[in-house]
Amino acid sequence: MTHTLSRRPLRRFWGWGHADATLSAQELSTLGLMLSQLDVGGALRPEPQLHEFTLAPSRVQPPAALAHLFSATPLDRLNHSAGKSFADCARMWLRQPPPAPDWVVYPDNEQDVVDVLDWAVRHNVAVIPYGGGSSVCGGVEVAVGGGYTAAISLDMERMHRVLEVDPVSRAARVQAGALGPELAAQLKTHGLALRHFPQSYEFSTLGGWIVTRAGGHYAMQYTHIDDFVECTRLVTPQGVMQTRRLPGSGAGPAPDRLVLGSEGSLGVLTEAWVRLQVPPVFRASASVKFDDYGAAAQCLRALSQSGLNPSNCRLLDAMETVVSGVGDGSCAVLVLGFESDDHPLHAWMARALALVDSYGGRYDAAAVARSQEGPGSQEHRIGTAGAWRDAFLRMPYWRDPMVGQGAIMDTVETAITWERFADFYRDVRAELAAVIERTTGMEAMVSCRITHVYPDGVAPYFTFACGTRDGSVASALAAWRDIKQAANAVLVAHGGTITHHHAVGRDHRSGYDREVDPLFRAMLASAKHTVDPQAVMNPGVLVDPVGRPLGLTGVLGSA
Ligand SMILES: Cc1cc2nc3c(=O)[nH]c(=O)nc-3n(C[C@H](O)[C@H](O)[C@H](O)COP(=O)(O)OP(=O)(O)OC[C@H]3O[C@@H](n4cnc5c(N)ncnc54)[C@H](O)[C@@H]3O)c2cc1C
Repeated sequence: MTHTLSRRPLRRFWGWGHADATLSAQELSTLGLMLSQLDVGGALRPEPQLHEFTLAPSRVQPPAALAHLFSATPLDRLNHSAGKSFADCARMWLRQPPPAPDWVVYPDNEQDVVDVLDWAVRHNVAVIPYGGGSSVCGGVEVAVGGGYTAAISLDMERMHRVLEVDPVSRAARVQAGALGPELAAQLKTHGLALRHFPQSYEFSTLGGWIVTRAGGHYAMQYTHIDDFVECTRLVTPQGVMQTRRLPGSGAGPAPDRLVLGSEGSLGVLTEAWVRLQVPPVFRASASVKFDDYGAAAQCLRALSQSGLNPSNCRLLDAMETVVSGVGDGSCAVLVLGFESDDHPLHAWMARALALVDSYGGRYDAAAVARSQEGPGSQEHRIGTAGAWRDAFLRMPYWRDPMVGQGAIMDTVETAITWERFADFYRDVRAELAAVIERTTGMEAMVSCRITHVYPDGVAPYFTFACGTRDGSVASALAAWRDIKQAANAVLVAHGGTITHHHAVGRDHRSGYDREVDPLFRAMLASAKHTVDPQAVMNPGVLVDPVGRPLGLTGVLGSA
């Protein structure tokens, strides 16, 4: 029986991963431990099943010429009704999903995209572009208010090819719907790689990364998708905008900068030229323990300002080492690494360790030596760095059953300059814990890892978890709404940004509106009005369309 027009392996509509994904015995035992620490008990609840969901009928008929691209199977519609945030997952466990798109549309090529937008404009249909659906801020939710005839989700999965490779300049022209592994497999045949690795790599796309300004797992330098983009191609309701392929240009404001971070509100990104790299063969890694978090942060700053540019430089506070499975909570851990396809890294690591020594960091010198043994060394895959990487990639899988048990587990990420970091770290953790405890009546676990480092500041990523008094998913979701709004306010009030790499979407609108100058928001709304005068493109994200005041939509709003 066909449940979906998707050609990809079946995804779980209620959470992360493929439909047949399971947890290992070890992961189940860690999950049990985590739940008991949060005072959440009981046998694991039954996972949501497709037959438990009833969707409203589709409100429009697809155009005859494009009907073969349109799907309204319950699985397709449910799969595209939400992203992968805590609230998305909780609403699925409650069997109360957000409104589903009337249709899911799978364009085969750019002309299909043009034709679909043309039809949507003529029929007042809202269009929600969809890459991998890994948004954690309501970016793909069909929350567009009552002003539209219908809403469709435009899934880019069939546009996943590498179209051209330029080995001289080391760049490739790639369709926007390529998932991380699809892109890597095609580039590997050319001996090249993008090397942009967000935690969601497996289930997110090049197009999604570009329009959300994603951050990869490298701590410094080549990690933001912004830096990999040479040029872009955007299909808007008013025509196609192609930018020029150049290594750099001083010709006025950069057009690509408007596409980066546009979150589907200006048009559909169909392809981009991206800068590539040769995969590294030389590596050096170290896992450094610090008893004093303040000293660890100072060491991080020294490293970030040294010009050494480590590829990995993640500082986990003591609580975060427990969450990440790399420590027992007794000290902070700095995961440090260098990579190169060109030269051994002994000198870089030696200088970095000298800095570490001067701030009182402790490390296993033999393990560091093993990591530098050359191309054959597996040290970066084992030891603390490997354990951290494995836990990092598996974490989303065991978040889902925690949500089903009525636990709240979520993250907020931000950025702040160095001179304000110490106070920021202290105050945000304390205020998050206080609001969680006030809202749920339960003790909160709040941890922090520094995901990205700059010479002038850091990107702290806070994880919080707690139970609820009655252990119900409904209570957890109600509490989460208050916590999320409070967290949005706290981050901006203390001088941070509402998001360092997760984007604005619908759930971060309240912080974005506080943070960004009203004049700039008006300019953005004008730009949107120019390319999308009927305001059909992803209404509700980033800014209100001119003439259609939507305000807050999605799980935190009313529209
Ligand atoms: C477990 C987990 C881990 C994550 N880790 C990271 C991380 O390490 N770094 C990071 O930056 N983010 C991370 N995220 C957030 C998310 O993966 C990113 O925002 C990612 O860039 C979204 O890509 P996507 O293809 O899934 O886009 P989607 O979720 O499908 O869409 C995101 C937004 O982009 C728009 N969009 C998508 N494709 C197009 C297109 N072709 N044209 C126009 N608009 C489009 C959508 O309308 C939506 O507004 C994580 C999310 C999860 C669930």
